[in-house]
Amino acid sequence: MLRVSYSDTYQVPLPFKHRFPMQKYELLREQLLYQGILEPQQLYIPEFIKEEIILITHDEEYWARVKNLRLSIQEERRLGFPQSIALVRRSIASASGTFWSSLYALTEGIGVSLAGGTHHAYKDRAEGFCILNDVAISLNYLIQQKKICKGLVIDLDVHQGNGTAKIFEDHTAVFTFSMHAHENYPFAKERSDLDISLPTGTGDENYLSILKSTLPSVITQFQPDIIYYIAGVDVLATDRLGKLNLTLEGCKKRDELVLELAQSLQIPIVVVMGGGYSNHYADIINAHTNTIKVIKNLYD
Ligand SMILES: [Zn+2]
Repeated sequence: MLRVSYSDTYQVPLPFKHRFPMQKYELLREQLLYQGILEPQQLYIPEFIKEEIILITHDEEYWARVKNLRLSIQEERRLGFPQSIALVRRSIASASGTFWSSLYALTEGIGVSLAGGTHHAYKDRAEGFCILNDVAISLNYLIQQKKICKGLVIDLDVHQGNGTAKIFEDHTAVFTFSMHAHENYPFAKERSDLDISLPTGTGDENYLSILKSTLPSVITQFQPDIIYYIAGVDVLATDRLGKLNLTLEGCKKRDELVLELAQSLQIPIVVVMGGGYSNHYADIINAHTNTIKVIKNLYD
């Protein structure tokens, strides 16, 4: 049975301008249940991971500042959210969702979290709404525990996965692939193992043809034991922060391309949600819902 992690702590009370990016998680869960795409028993609340797992990846002093709400004004500004206990709990819950989804993926072939993809977090600093780098935390744990030898990150959120790229800069066990809008945050980009910077306005046809001509060889050459797919839907044309021009259908085809490859090559895959900031809320929810539909068609 396909199992999907979700926690009520994903929703954090925030000033109005930030409210929706948080609300989407609850709306997504409601829509998946309402449309009968998931049954209630398929959802589980991820148990909080132990601090020592976080500290394999993150710097101890940084994590102490986060927990004790002692981020400096500059650090808070870089994060983009006001710090709060609720936000700390949310960050742990989200990293935990990715963590348990990783263990599911290793036994079931697929693990899904209705959160995660906080790829701007560095080992010692918060950035761009991200405090903990969920994918890095899980990957570093799996490698340390010798559950896998090699992991591939396919980051198709519209923003570059700068935190992830930096964390794994010198790790030959992890291959980071980021395809993103060039003229977009973060403006000082890090170096992933493979970056594809797309021009503003790139639409379905070019996007999909670039992905199709790149991804299969990345996977077959690197031969990962696990794939992390950051399925951000901020690639949509209606996204406020996006700058690309994908349609809902194009975004779904992107998901199919990634997931069909993983499934046909029998490589465990962990899917996390990533960003989505369209002013047209239905677009965000429908695009994320499509990701889950694609997974359900292939794996359930
Ligand atoms: Zn993004």
